[in-house]
This record gives sequence, C-alpha cells and structure tokens, in this order.
Amino acid sequence: MSHIKDIDKAYVAGTYARFPVEITSGKGSIVKDETGKEYIDMGSGIGVTAFGIADDAWQQAVTEQLSKVQHMSNLYYTAPCAQLAEILCQRTGMKKVFFANSGAEANECAIKVARKYAADKKGPEYSTIITLKNSFHGRTLTTLAATGQDHFHQLFQPLTPGFVYCDANDLPQLETLVKENKVAGILIEVIQGEGGVNALDEAFVQGAAKLAQDNDFLFMVDEVQTGNGRTGKLYGYMHYGVQPDVITTAKGLGGGLPLGAAILGDKAENVLGFGDHGSTFGGNPVCCAGAISILNRMDDAFLQEVEEKSAYVFSALEGAPGILSVSGKGLMVGIETAREAKAVVTECMEKGVLCLTAKTKVRLLPALNIPMDVLKKAVEILKEVCAKA
Ligand SMILES: *Cc1c(COP(=O)(O)O)cnc(C)c1O
Repeated sequence: MSHIKDIDKAYVAGTYARFPVEITSGKGSIVKDETGKEYIDMGSGIGVTAFGIADDAWQQAVTEQLSKVQHMSNLYYTAPCAQLAEILCQRTGMKKVFFANSGAEANECAIKVARKYAADKKGPEYSTIITLKNSFHGRTLTTLAATGQDHFHQLFQPLTPGFVYCDANDLPQLETLVKENKVAGILIEVIQGEGGVNALDEAFVQGAAKLAQDNDFLFMVDEVQTGNGRTGKLYGYMHYGVQPDVITTAKGLGGGLPLGAAILGDKAENVLGFGDHGSTFGGNPVCCAGAISILNRMDDAFLQEVEEKSAYVFSALEGAPGILSVSGKGLMVGIETAREAKAVVTECMEKGVLCLTAKTKVRLLPALNIPMDVLKKAVEILKEVCAKA
C-alpha cells in the first residue's frame, strides 16, 4: 500500500469507496497509476473531462486566464463569465444564466427560481416541486429532497419540504399530482443517470412540458449529466422536441474545473433580482474560460462524431454474450450485465479499463473525443469480461 493511500484513508472523510488505484498522470482518454500502469478512462471523472485529461486547447484557455485574473468577486465584470453566458444562451435559445460551482448548486438555483416565479405570480403556497422517482439531483439537503430515492433521504431528516415524486413515464400520475398540489415546477433528467441510465419516453417529456405550459409552472431539465454534448446533442432535451424554462448543468461544462449553470428561459429570466441569489465562486473566470474552449468545439460535426461512436458502442454491445441490455444515448451508456456490475468493473480495471456503475448496471461516460481505436479496445475488453460465466 503506497503512502498516499494510507494518508488518504487516515485523513480524508470516508464518504468514498475508492478503488486501490492512485491516478498520477494522463493525457486524453489514457490515465496512469502510481505504478505506471495505463488505463483507458471510460468514466471521464463521471462525465466531467469532456475532452479528456490535460486536453491541449482547454489547458491553454485555462492557463491563459489563470495568468491574467484567477478570481474576481461578482461585484465586477469579467469577460469569460459574460462570454460563456452568451454562448449558452445562443446555443439553447435561453435568455440568462446564473453560474454556480456544481450540479447540486445549479439545481438549488432552479428550485429557488421556480418557487419565486410561482410565489410572484400565484402566491407563496404554490411551492411544490415535482420530481421523478429514481432521479438524482444532488447532495445538498434540498437537492436530496428533490432526489426521488428513499435511501438517500433516511439519514438526514428533516429535508427541505415541498417535493412530490412521480413514476417516470407515467403521465396520468403526473396529471394527478399537478391537480392535487400547488405546483411551482417540475424537474426531470431526460435520461436518468445515477438511476441506471434510463431515457424517458418522448410522450412523457412532451406531456410534462405541456402540463407546465398549461398550468403556468416551470418545466426544468437537469442536464448536469446529459448536458454539454454527452448524449450526441448539445443538451439532452434537444432529442425530445421541447424547450425547457430552466436548464441546469455542470459536470462536463467546465471540462474538469468546477462549474455549474442554471440557464433561464423567457418565463424565468427576470425572476431573480439583485440580492436574490449569489455565489462567491460562481462564474469564476478560469472555469468559464475552460468552458468556452469546450463548448466552442462542440459544433455539429463534433456532435455527429459522438453519435457515430455511440452507434459503434451500441452495436458492439447489444446482444453480446453476458450483456442483457444497453440503454442511454450518445456516449452515456448503461449496460445490464449477466455478471454483477461491480465484479465487471473491478475486472475491467485489472485489465486496464476504468468503467462506472449506475445502480445495477455498468455505465460508460468516456471523454467525448475518445479516439475510435481507443474506444474499440476498451469495448473489446469490456465484452471479454462480460462474456465470462
Ligand atoms: C452528478 C449529478 C448532480 C450533482 O452534481 P454535483 O456537481 O455532484 O453537485 C445532479 N444532477 C444530476 C443529474 C447528476 O448526474
């Protein structure tokens, strides 16, 4: 056991069950551990390093800004923050952006916006937020309340009140919840990530958007995992023919630096005024400069390549021995395996491929620019491991 693992075990809060591997360097989709062993990274820091480790253009954008100004308070203007907000709005048809530092904080902002929108228009009793069962929205007390999984709730009562949960894809149930509650908003992941990489039905997503429109509450999409090119479109909702009132995102947005955003549409753009919300680090110029470099390279041709890699992964895995089903979109892939997912991930790691799990599935979230030959090698190893009895 290396020194670092011992120090970590002694001094870092024990909230993570780490694999016995210390990552010391990397480039693109290849990372190295403390012994010099190489791995193909099929997790990209849980969908964060959108262009892989130490991507040249991203690194240049970040270090250039780092050498100018690393932080200013939000009392002043900085260029990367303003320019990133413009890009996000232009690429989504939305109107304004609030910057945070994580997915949970982006969702906190969305929930505040929905409640204030409803309170301003209808009264403060219109505070209920509908989320879905099996969802995941973050680890703060409010986003835990939004997360529709009981086991996350048990240890930390009382959570923020005012959340009700609907079964995914059950539109009649959603209609009933809208009738029975004073609703401020609905928050959904169009593909439930942590819940097992389950894409919602188009009819349900469109029905939810229509209910929000007809009843004048906010339709909010949590794109923390599905956003920023992950599904083969810039944002996951773009597969569904809907326009959200609020989009939240984080993970891949900063390309590896902490950055979250709540992107506000027509209905929501002016809900927050001076002093209504804030974040000391939100819109950090270094993080935003990195994000600009990431988003500006996600053009149609790039997203087309993501789709092509996705088509390869799905066709290689579907029906392969030991693989029961493949779900997701783009390079957000859930794999139901005959063997226990954890055993598959552990054995893949031993064979030099880092994969993730989501519930009982193996999950792949590789860097979006992973070279085809590297992707093929990883998929072959994964298939080999899954095929074992
Ligand atoms: C990861 C995730 C979050 C939480 O993001 P943090 O940056 O860890 O706070 C929220 N929603 C979804 C859909 C996620 O995948």
